Amino acid sequence: MSLLSVENLVAAHGLLTAVRGVSFAVDEGAAIAVVGANGAGKTTLLRAISGVHRIESGRIVLDGIDLTRSNAPKRVAAGVAMVPEGRRLFGDMTVRENLLLAGEYGRAGRWTLDAVLDAFPALKPLLDRPADVLSGGQRQAAAIGRSLMCNPRILLLDEVSLGLSPIAVDGLYQSLALLRRAGTTIVLVEQDLDRALGFADRILCMLEGGIALEGEPAALSRADITAAYFGLARAKGGAS
Ligand code: ATP
Repeated sequence: MSLLSVENLVAAHGLLTAVRGVSFAVDEGAAIAVVGANGAGKTTLLRAISGVHRIESGRIVLDGIDLTRSNAPKRVAAGVAMVPEGRRLFGDMTVRENLLLAGEYGRAGRWTLDAVLDAFPALKPLLDRPADVLSGGQRQAAAIGRSLMCNPRILLLDEVSLGLSPIAVDGLYQSLALLRRAGTTIVLVEQDLDRALGFADRILCMLEGGIALEGEPAALSRADITAAYFGLARAKGGAS
């Protein structure tokens, strides 16, 4: 059975339907990358799964438990954690305070402050600094660490490398690879197609709120992905 199952999800911004009947499943321990052009609906999809954006219709099921009607805190408690685009740390609180605060809202489990610092050693010397003074890469590491403190069963990461230097992105993906080896299930939104293809077991390409193409990286040609990305032609494997 899949760990996360998203069924016919519809989410809107006012009159604009941003996610149009999206369905996909994520197996435990898998990493899925959601790609697609600006405005394709990726952020809205992740926000709807995490419970911070209202769902018009459809279902979200985590390990057999229907979370569709659960609010965001209940989804965190059930094991869904999101690292939002822009990181959204509490800027005047220290890194330590940001991490420990998150730990109070999640599940019990292996991710303690020490475990997070082992996964992101660059955070150790920053623990007593206010989050506001961190660089982009440091903020992203702290934001992921904060989500891990909730001991999620599934980690949702929006625009994971946006605004980071190439070196910071390298470091970030090394940490994400470590999380994968530890069995963390990951859904990430990534604009950098090469990174997405190199990291994920499965790619979902969104176009205008639907899934235009879905498959394992090895089974997808660049031409198919480019076509799905820009809606140039109907790509094979399209789900909606
Ligand atoms: P990006 O990469 O630019 O963040 P995205 O694929 O994540 O794009 P969304 O941000 O989910 O896409 O946006 C999907 C659609 O919803 C777009 O047409 C966008 O203009 C619209 N939208 C997003 N946020 C809002 C909002 N707060 N109010 C109104 N419309 C919105």
